[in-house]
Amino acid sequence: MSSTPHLRPHFWQHYSLSELTHAEWEALCDGCGTCCLNKFLDEDEPAEAVAYTDVACQLLDCDTGFCSNYPNRQDYVPACVNLTADKLAQTMWLPSHCAYKRLYLGQNLPDWHLLVTGDAEVTAKGMRHAGIGVAGRCVSEVGMEEEEIEERIIRWAEV
Ligand code: SF4
Ligand code: SF4
Repeated sequence: MSSTPHLRPHFWQHYSLSELTHAEWEALCDGCGTCCLNKFLDEDEPAEAVAYTDVACQLLDCDTGFCSNYPNRQDYVPACVNLTADKLAQTMWLPSHCAYKRLYLGQNLPDWHLLVTGDAEVTAKGMRHAGIGVAGRCVSEVGMEEEEIEERIIRWAEV
C-alpha cells in the first residue's frame, strides 16, 4: 500500500532548503526534465547557463520526460547531478522556473507549481501554457556525435 509522504504545510516558505526533509526536497521538483538536457556552460562562470540543447541524457525517456532509471541513475550516468542544498550555488544553470533555483534566489514558486495548485491537472495545464517540460520535445543523445549535439541549441528550455 502506498502512502503520501508527510509534507509540512507551506514548508518552502517556512524552512530553508537545507532544513527540508527528503520528501519535501523531492516535492519541489516539477519533473520538467530540463536539467536532463545536454547543455553548454559558460567557461568562465560554469555555474551559469548557457546554451541548452534539445538532446537528452541517455536515460531520459523523451516521450514522458522522466528518467527511466532514477534510483540507479548514477550507476549509468555518474555525471548526473544529485542536487542538494549545498550544490545550488554551482547549479545556477538550472532553468529560471526550477523551484530549487527560485528558492535559492529568494523567489516564490511558480503559480502553476503542484505545491501551490494542489491539482495535477491545473499544474500540467499551467506548465504547458508556460512552455515548460521536455516531454515530446527532445531526442536522445544515444548514438549522437558531439558535433551534432552542438548544432541543436534551443532557447525554449531556459524559461
Ligand atoms: S530543472 Fe529543476 S524542476 Fe525541472 S526536473 Fe530539473 S530539478 Fe526538477
Ligand atoms: S540520469 Fe536520469 S535524472 Fe540524471 S540527467 Fe540522466 S535522465 Fe536526468
